[in-house]
Amino acid sequence: MHHSERDRLSGARLHHISSAELGCLMTNIDREVTRLTQLRGAAEEQRAKTEVAERERESACMACLSETRAVVLPCGCKVYCGSCHERDPGGRHRRCR
Ligand SMILES: [Zn+2]
Ligand SMILES: [Zn+2]
Repeated sequence: MHHSERDRLSGARLHHISSAELGCLMTNIDREVTRLTQLRGAAEEQRAKTEVAERERESACMACLSETRAVVLPCGCKVYCGSCHERDPGGRHRRCR
């Protein structure tokens, strides 16, 4: 009795798997785990970079998003750079305590 490769690898035949095939499957799983671990490492690296960018953006003026925040508003918030505050004192700043 001989089964074709496709027949052998189908789910219905999985319980007839030989130890050699099982070893092969384990190797494939190991390889996949290694690949996913590397992917996760890359994802974590990317997230760290995003956090740095986020922090940089938080310290940038909310209006022009490029200058450094310099003006402390009466409410105590520091969200605008000097020139943006001069052009529009208080700006669209609403959300605070
Ligand atoms: Zn500005
Ligand atoms: Zn405020």
